Amino acid sequence: MLLPEHTLHKPTSLSDCLQQLSDLGAGEQERHDQVQLVAGGTDVIFNMRLKFFQPDHLISLRRLHELQQVEELPDGGLRIGTACRLVDLADDARIQQRFPALRQAIDAVASVHIRNMGTLGGNICLETRCWYTNNSDDWREGRAGCFKTDCEHCHVIPSSEQCHAINNADTPPALIALGATLTIQSVRGCRVLPIAEFYQPDGMAHMALAADEIVTHVTLPASIDRAVFIKYTPRRGMDFSIGAVAVRCDGQGEEAIDPVIVIASISSSPIILHKPAEIIAEQGLGDDAIEAAIEHMRGELGEVTNLYGRATYKKQIAKTLVRRALRQIRSM
Ligand SMILES: Cc1cc2nc3c(=O)[nH]c(=O)nc-3n(C[C@H](O)[C@H](O)[C@H](O)COP(=O)(O)OP(=O)(O)OC[C@H]3O[C@@H](n4cnc5c(N)ncnc54)[C@H](O)[C@@H]3O)c2cc1C
Ligand code: SF4
Repeated sequence: MLLPEHTLHKPTSLSDCLQQLSDLGAGEQERHDQVQLVAGGTDVIFNMRLKFFQPDHLISLRRLHELQQVEELPDGGLRIGTACRLVDLADDARIQQRFPALRQAIDAVASVHIRNMGTLGGNICLETRCWYTNNSDDWREGRAGCFKTDCEHCHVIPSSEQCHAINNADTPPALIALGATLTIQSVRGCRVLPIAEFYQPDGMAHMALAADEIVTHVTLPASIDRAVFIKYTPRRGMDFSIGAVAVRCDGQGEEAIDPVIVIASISSSPIILHKPAEIIAEQGLGDDAIEAAIEHMRGELGEVTNLYGRATYKKQIAKTLVRRALRQIRSM
């Protein structure tokens, strides 16, 4: 499958990159077709080959050394440039020691070959997908288009008026649980947003990111006591998950201070489970409390689509993953 024709730009500074993104026509509001960012390229090139993206211009982030550093913060936290490769972050002793749940999530992404190219920013901004988008252009040609190809239709849920493609990137749930914030820049300025507020439950507009903005850094606050990330894939080895969970909480044993529970890969955005976390905070991490928390998940999972498996099966996976993660936290 040939790549659609395009011009590749290789800025060497962030300011040039932001200027090019703005000059090449990335409007403030709408997701743009004419210009796309490329970091490691493991996903964007795939989507171009499938003709979901056909940008006239690609802007590479690979020469932006400003975005390839990991800085130590005075409180013990880290500020990570989004163009850092996943393989380098997995090898960073500070991430291994202070943020092992993030390391687990990074290691869960694809294979070492892909992590060798793929970046943290590309993973955070990964496009949503479904079984229809996973097929070639030729395969799709015999069928009508969908919302992602400018048609008013969804093949996966034909009765729906919006796209339900799934966000199954691995690092976002871990970063949400760890309380990370994102630095987002454009020629218009800079803003900082908790990653928990970055994702939106819409397969077409799944990020609160304007077309002229770049996610430049991820800031992790000082490490917390206990955190885990668990991913479930139908096949062992390299695969996107059909359910992933990240949990963090302070305290020891059954004590649970400030718990955060995030479930991902079942919707267009990761879901923060508020009521189950409240139950754990009040009742601790005993078996009864864990079961009570799981019972309260249903109300917060929202509409679980039947992408990559039946909705009931996915709900069951979500419960099993949360139970497993809470028990692991208890024994840490
Ligand atoms: C075979 C295969 C298996 C895979 N398995 C997994 C998996 O198990 N788990 C998983 O999470 N992913 C998986 N992926 C997807 C992908 O490889 C990874 O998510 C990777 O981290 C993407 O990073 P990248 O730098 O290559 O992104 P790119 O392809 O360069 O970019 C991805 C998207 O993010 C945007 N983008 C990149 N950087 C920024 C930024 N700083 N600011 C704003 N937008 C930005 C791009 O414009 C593009 O839309 C898989 C891919 C393949 C091909
Ligand atoms: S979920 Fe529906 S609208 Fe979204 S990409 Fe898949 S087929 Fe298209």
